[in-house]
Amino acid sequence: MWKYGFKCVIILTTNGTTNILEIEVYIMRRKLIAGNWKMNMTPSQAVKLVNELKPHVDNKDVDVLFCVPAIDIIPVINEVKDTDIEVGAENVFYEEKGAYTGELSPEMLVDAGVKYVIIGHSERRQYFNEDDDIINKKLKKVVEHDLIPILCCGETLEQREDGVTLDFIRKQINNAFKNIPSEKAINCVIAYEPIWAIGTGKVATTEQAQEVCCAIRGFIKDIYGSLVADQIRILYGGSVSAANASALFVQPDIDGGLVGGASLKPEFAQIVNYLKEE
Ligand code: PEP
Repeated sequence: MWKYGFKCVIILTTNGTTNILEIEVYIMRRKLIAGNWKMNMTPSQAVKLVNELKPHVDNKDVDVLFCVPAIDIIPVINEVKDTDIEVGAENVFYEEKGAYTGELSPEMLVDAGVKYVIIGHSERRQYFNEDDDIINKKLKKVVEHDLIPILCCGETLEQREDGVTLDFIRKQINNAFKNIPSEKAINCVIAYEPIWAIGTGKVATTEQAQEVCCAIRGFIKDIYGSLVADQIRILYGGSVSAANASALFVQPDIDGGLVGGASLKPEFAQIVNYLKEE
């Protein structure tokens, strides 16, 4: 998930004693490129798509993830088992088990081989009335099971125009991470997804995306301190394409992307290989 580095500068002073002037341990966050298939792909279509993409996205330089509809999880896991590609779910419930018809528990996902799960996507907030309280319950439950949540946050166009983007996202982050201990928070992934950029073809500028991702890292620092803030991965999502991926992903606080529409096309391979395309 991370690459660790170590820098040590030793200065020999004039009186002959050796002083260590600077020691720096640094962590390079590995990029994560995650596809969000949404409600697309029957199981047979899913197997076909994965087999088309697999040879082109099995990339050692970045973490690659397919977040797929529940019914596609097992067939997709079977198709990627000899690769480094991970499989994620698009949703989960916050109870352990019981009379919750239609829901999937974290334990079920873990047992199936799922590593990540998207939580708080704006489409779930909008169409399924998921509020910050539900999202916090889901986050708490999935980290208990060592699943990695991809927590989505982001403002509407109206909020951006009203100048309240950062206040709104700070609230989303604070509410989502309520009572999540730092040793769990450090492994979480956050996706900044401006609602006005999702599925619209309107991508945030690299400056807008970097500004908000950097602010999110600051909000995490305010809750958990620098160690967690420096290690937590923050993705950008919203009309990511082969044309804009590399400009976005080279930003200092953008650790990859959550990709909707383009994750269903051969273009996903170009996004995953954004470094080679340069
Ligand atoms: C998404 O669904 O999370 C998303 C960012 O979609 P798109 O890439 O299609 O805008």
